[in-house]
Amino acid sequence: MERLADTRMRLCVDLKECEYLLIGLGEEWERLEPAQIPGAYESLRRLAQGKDYFVVTTVTDGRIFESPLDGTRITAPCGNRNWLQCSCSCTKDIWERGELPSEICPHCGAPLTENTIAAQEYIEEGYLPQWNAYKAWLAGTLNRRLLILELGVGFGTPTVIRWPFEKTAFFNRKAHMYRVNQTFYQISEQIRERAEAVEANSVEFCREMIENLSGI
Ligand SMILES: [Zn+2]
Repeated sequence: MERLADTRMRLCVDLKECEYLLIGLGEEWERLEPAQIPGAYESLRRLAQGKDYFVVTTVTDGRIFESPLDGTRITAPCGNRNWLQCSCSCTKDIWERGELPSEICPHCGAPLTENTIAAQEYIEEGYLPQWNAYKAWLAGTLNRRLLILELGVGFGTPTVIRWPFEKTAFFNRKAHMYRVNQTFYQISEQIRERAEAVEANSVEFCREMIENLSGI
């Protein structure tokens, strides 16, 4: 495997030349310590600066929405732990944490639970508007120069980012994908022409990318 520094330099060029930037965030971002979170998202913001970008994240801590990234360009389909739903799913209503101090569903009296895929019956209304915005954005990238950065995504929920991103790289002949992951960096044969494996922690990799970018 070539040196990581060379990969980062090539990625800097790809970043400059791409028309669209698709970012996927997975388990490596879920595992961040609270103190690391602001710096990690700040690196992403700088990577995405001036780009027509969209972020898909499986992380459910909601911290990305407090970051300087544009909230209208983020979708979190696995939910947000700061939002609550009825644990019996009697209603599609969603409340912000603290909005109902009793944390009891006003419709049926059941306790509220976090609005994430961990809920027994996940109320999807919370993420769907932004998911639809993402689908519309993605449709506009077909056969355009699309740079795909898949960062730290494993096999927790592969149907959300990992497999669809591979499909996007496969069908868009002008796409180029980097799969950055400490452990699950492998690329399948079908997309080898348009994708590369980067064996590195994705959070660390982004931070170092920013140092490269500022050095150009
Ligand atoms: Zn209820």
